[in-house]
Amino acid sequence: MVSTKPCFKRVVFIIIDGAPYEIFKALIENGDLPNIKKHVVDRGSLNKAVSVFPSTTGPAFIPFFMGLYPGTANIPGIRWLSKSNFHTLHRFKRPGICSYMGLDGLHFEADLPPDFPTLFNFFSPVSNIYNLLARGCPPAKNLTRRIKPFAYTYAHFSHRWRFVNQIAVRQLQKAVEAGDKFIMCLFPAVDTFSHLTEIQSPQVLQTYREIDIAIGDLVHTLQKANTLQETLILITSDHGMTDTHTHVDVPQHLDDGGWRCLHYPKVWRHGTTSASMVSGNGMTHLYFKNNSDGKGWGERTPFEKLHQMGVISALIELEGLGLVAGQSETGDIIVQNRIGQGRISCRSLDTDHRNLQNMPATFKSADSLRFSYRFTGIDPLGYGVHYENLSSRETLRETYDSPHPDGIVQLWQIFKSERTGDLVLSAESGYDLRARYEIPKHHATHGSLIAEHLHIPLATSYPITEKFIRSVDVFPTVLSLCGHNVAGHYIDGRVVK
Ligand SMILES: [Zn+2]
Repeated sequence: MVSTKPCFKRVVFIIIDGAPYEIFKALIENGDLPNIKKHVVDRGSLNKAVSVFPSTTGPAFIPFFMGLYPGTANIPGIRWLSKSNFHTLHRFKRPGICSYMGLDGLHFEADLPPDFPTLFNFFSPVSNIYNLLARGCPPAKNLTRRIKPFAYTYAHFSHRWRFVNQIAVRQLQKAVEAGDKFIMCLFPAVDTFSHLTEIQSPQVLQTYREIDIAIGDLVHTLQKANTLQETLILITSDHGMTDTHTHVDVPQHLDDGGWRCLHYPKVWRHGTTSASMVSGNGMTHLYFKNNSDGKGWGERTPFEKLHQMGVISALIELEGLGLVAGQSETGDIIVQNRIGQGRISCRSLDTDHRNLQNMPATFKSADSLRFSYRFTGIDPLGYGVHYENLSSRETLRETYDSPHPDGIVQLWQIFKSERTGDLVLSAESGYDLRARYEIPKHHATHGSLIAEHLHIPLATSYPITEKFIRSVDVFPTVLSLCGHNVAGHYIDGRVVK
């Protein structure tokens, strides 16, 4: 019997940083991206997928390459603080505080959990362009590793992000001509131009069109080599974006409330009792000093205690603050805003722990988890329904087209990380959570738990018919389409067909 199962020999994996699903879809439908439409979408499909919380570069790459949530991978933001390590001031140790936007960007790969494979491990030869998650890619094949720091710094100050994208286009073409079997190419300029201008400015729309032309050239090269049919082309984004009209000064608000706040770039401020570690800038982790011996920052502070301290009521009155989430003394996740409070609980059906013998406690099989959600007042997540004992997939389906897609599982997963704040804040559309020290000033935002930041395009040259897709599903799905499988490795995703 002849198998109809596809088995691609090559993958070209394109991430357009910061491309929202709705904008990408409109550009395809309006004929603005003719090459992507003809050679990818029309041969395969364009799906609306859901990214992760925080919806920001770095953490939101981990699902694609490793099939893990940021919380599972213990990288819950582009900046974080580790309360248990923060007091460890040591010549050779990191201080327990991190921003991958700075020099710590070099630590990103080392901070990923060890012993987990990435997509790079399943193919040979491979190449990587700009993407910071290059574990498994030989340094010589990380094609932009030398030029990236210079190109990004130059573009940061001159705003010439077109130049950075043009380097990606050239390297992509080179990798395709070389016959590499897995080519990962990140185009950063939609995100950076959106931050500088707005999400549909002429520069941003021009960037989409330039990427489309690059896809046309790439397909032409594959056709010439007669390898188009055996190549899976996948185009996606790590997060969406929204235009920003108001910057909320969270550190100032905490200072005013009596919780002197540590934040980038003022990370050596003395006498601080709180910290704000912002991502994207639509979300931030808040940490509160919680100890009796006066030395370290203690353990995670329960939501109930923060409520008693007056922190919650001080935060929810802030205009533009969509959600405040924390962990209850019971382990549940509590999500609060001005109009109501929701409670997420999760239990495992895995009573015999058959599959868990060699896994850390947080690595329960995703299929064995059941989620419940109840609220008082008006539902802060906007579902308006109480849920009881839903599987992870059922919660995804139920909340897919809501204002907070996959909010139940996304809030649960981020609190799995030890580096996650006592509180996690998510901004409303139009607002961000960083009012000072952002140079140049940002006019667009991502990072939040809102649909405009979480819905991402997933264009594949092979049709995917499944309607409900998470970015963590991309890793096992790509491997399955190429005849590999990930049995034996824990992942948060599953194969979608
Ligand atoms: Zn960004």
